Parts: sequence; structure tokens; C-alpha cells
Amino acid sequence: MKKSVIAVLLAMVLVFSLSACGGDSEDTSSDTVVYKVGTEPTFPPFDTTDEDQNIVGLDMDIMKAIGEDQGFEVEFENLSFDGLIPALQAGNIDIVAAGMNKDDPERQEQVDFSDAYYESQLFVAVPVDNDTINSIDDLTSDMRVAAQTGTTGAEKVKELADSGQIGEAVILDGLDTVMMQLINGDVQAVINDKPVTEAYMAKQPDKIKMVGEALNAENYGFAVQKGNTELLEKINAGLANIKEDGTFDELVDKWFNM
Ligand code: GLN
Repeated sequence: MKKSVIAVLLAMVLVFSLSACGGDSEDTSSDTVVYKVGTEPTFPPFDTTDEDQNIVGLDMDIMKAIGEDQGFEVEFENLSFDGLIPALQAGNIDIVAAGMNKDDPERQEQVDFSDAYYESQLFVAVPVDNDTINSIDDLTSDMRVAAQTGTTGAEKVKELADSGQIGEAVILDGLDTVMMQLINGDVQAVINDKPVTEAYMAKQPDKIKMVGEALNAENYGFAVQKGNTELLEKINAGLANIKEDGTFDELVDKWFNM
């Protein structure tokens, strides 16, 4: 076969392969995956809203950083905390990012969790001028104690009510409502996550304080639908990378020193 024909055939193969390659990459970039991330934004500094009611927080920034690292984008949905796992199970959202304790056996039956990204603890909080409640042991049967619906704090408060130690478990949807009831004196104590109670104390100084010892140890994780190994691996890989390159620490510093 003449050399000129071979040269033409090689050129055609080269042109075809380049166009095919270019076409695929263009298609991929226009098809960037966008995952729906559910949260309950009354949980600062992890999950809250800005002055324009945009959902913002440490969880959101971590999710966005993981997406940048792993090649996906995220959009955030405002759901009640106890509605997050059902929404994940129904496929209405793809990820839960809500300061959710991953060490809860019941939750582990329902969803899959990422590697832990933050350690927390439950504490009792009381009005700043209270001098009779110095630990959980000082809660008595004439008291109403509040916590947020569906949370580990709510489980603890319900245990205290079921055992008769406190008079009533007041379980409310938004953590902001829980804290308002404490400040207004409608309840005598609240059980909530230490870093978030501290954020409320910083926002409204001289209103509430934490007392006693830590009631548990929690490890926050991001949740995906049971069996969604592909997404879970992306989240874990991205989380490891942003911890490695210092982004994670920068985001924690940003949100805990606002
Ligand atoms: N860390 C607690 C839980 O997992 C509370 C979370 C929250 O209120 N966002 O139940």
C-alpha cells in the first residue's frame, strides 16, 4: 500500500480519536453531578442560615470542599432533623450533613455513615442565674427539660422522663425554639451538643451556661443511603484529602472563630 494512503489513514484515525476524546470530556463537564444535601439549619456553627436565609455553616463548607476535591457539586435542603434520615431513605436527598452522631446503632441500621469528622458531647444547659442545677443529678421531678426532636439529646431527656427523674420531656423541632424556651424560663434545662450550646452562648451572652460533666461522646458523620458505596467512598476520600491539605482545619477555624 502506498505510503501516502497509510499517512491519510493514520491522520483520519488521529483526528477521530481526538474528537471523540474532546467530545467525552465536554459532555462530562456539562454533566457535573449535583448532590442534594439535607440539613436542619438551627445548629450553628455546623448548620445555620445567613441574613439572606441561605443555608451556611461548617457542614456546608466541608461538603463543598469535598465536592471540589471529588468533582461534584452540592445543593442544600432545609428539613427537620427527624425528617433527614427518612428523606435519605426515600431518595429525596443524597446526603445528610447535620452534625449527626454516627455512633447511634439505630441510625447505622438505617443509613451508611462516612468517616467521623468532628467529636462532640452532650451537656446540660441552664439559665445563667440558676444556682441549683450543677449537674444532671440535680434535675428533679418538678422540672421540664427540653431537647430537639430526633436527636441524641432528645433520647437522653426522654430517658430522664421515663425514669421519673424529671417531670416532663419537652421535645421541639428547631433547636432555636428549644433555646428560647430555656431563656424564657418555660423549661428549667436543655440537653444539647456542647459546641452548639457554646455557639448559642456566644450569640446571646449572659443568658445560659453549661453545667456538670459530658453525658456522652459523639462522632459526627455524613450519612448516605444504605448501600451507596460509591458516594460514601467519594465523601471519605474527599474528607481525607481536605484534612491532609489543611482545608478542613481552616474551615473549622473559620466557623469557630466567627
Ligand atoms: N448530634 C446530635 C444528634 O446526632 C444533634 C444533631 C442536631 O441537632 N443537628 O442527634
